[in-house]
Amino acid sequence: MLNWDEPITPKKAPAAASATPAHPAVAADRQAASARAHSSHAAAGDAYHSLTGLESIDVGAAPVDVSEKRIINARADVNQLLPMKYTWAWEKYLAACNNHWMPTEVSMQADIALWKSREGLTEDERYMIMRNLGFFATSESLVANNIVLGIYRYITNPECRQYLLRQAFEEAVHTHTFQYIVDSLGLSEGEVFNMYRAVPSITAKAAWALKYTHNLADGNFDTSTHEGALHFLRDLVAFYVVFEGMWFYTGFAQILSLGRRNKMTGIAEQYQYIMRDESIHLNFGIDVINQIKIENPDLWSPEFQAEVLQMIQTACELEVQYARDTMPRGLLGLNAEMCEEYMHFITNRRCGQLGLPELYPGATNPFPWMSEAIDLKKEKNFFETRVTEYQTGGALSWD
Ligand code: FE
Ligand code: MN
Repeated sequence: MLNWDEPITPKKAPAAASATPAHPAVAADRQAASARAHSSHAAAGDAYHSLTGLESIDVGAAPVDVSEKRIINARADVNQLLPMKYTWAWEKYLAACNNHWMPTEVSMQADIALWKSREGLTEDERYMIMRNLGFFATSESLVANNIVLGIYRYITNPECRQYLLRQAFEEAVHTHTFQYIVDSLGLSEGEVFNMYRAVPSITAKAAWALKYTHNLADGNFDTSTHEGALHFLRDLVAFYVVFEGMWFYTGFAQILSLGRRNKMTGIAEQYQYIMRDESIHLNFGIDVINQIKIENPDLWSPEFQAEVLQMIQTACELEVQYARDTMPRGLLGLNAEMCEEYMHFITNRRCGQLGLPELYPGATNPFPWMSEAIDLKKEKNFFETRVTEYQTGGALSWD
């Protein structure tokens, strides 16, 4: 029996895979063949794991033993939700379902009137709003594609996958939000949705993130090797901690700051719902990363910690650049320097959540109202237009 406390040792490459990387379909066949060759209780030392539980059915096998559940490389059947091991994942799934919202429920009338008026917004505000929308419009799709194609298959745990399925839908809702905003305000679709290829500070962020999706194109990617698991952990840091946990926050602060001055309150309300979703996405990602660290302590070496800190620092610098680019002259109540300080504060929090030392000791939060907006879960929303606590079908009573 393989002892999971032992370090993961690199798997010997199958002879057939030695020369050229296999087509994904070939790799899948190999995996299926490997699944048939082993029972669900793999031979000692074999790092076999099942991605779908569809490779074979182990007829007559006993129910899943909770102690065999793991975030990555689990040998437990991924189709058996119960018994549950990671209750934090399930609780986030339930919380996310209780937060259900759709962008079309938010009225855009005031935003449309303001956007079309000559004097309601300054040129700098319009410029910031456009670049802000341009960053989010495609980022939500990048995150969604990465979850579905790059993360889901390697998280070999059903309660975590249940949350990932919900998160994937939420990313679709977020992308829908930008379609709805573009449509409502009559913005140029091509300009907003193509900005990640046209605006250097947005391109730089997307290009940095894409480096951490290489497993998508690699048919031989395998988290059962030490190197593969490290790659996967790096990818999780890039998307959950950096993309969703750092890079969205300048954009949230910009729009919510406008909303506080009673400008673009429809978009601000939508951003508040997005931010509420994203704060759960971030916390799920942090819990997943920390649980992988517990289950695979050899991965979290001093060298790897230094690498993660370097990643986070680079990401912070890219974000500061983006803030300068979107607000070259500053706006009422908001400027690039404040966003830089805020990003340092957020970066420190992410470091702390990962158990790493702070990169910017002493950074303070110039936007205390942002914490309020994030924590506001049960009360009327920020702009007092709608109750944010949303209960749907599941909570209906039939009397
Ligand atoms: Fe999102
Ligand atoms: Mn997200």
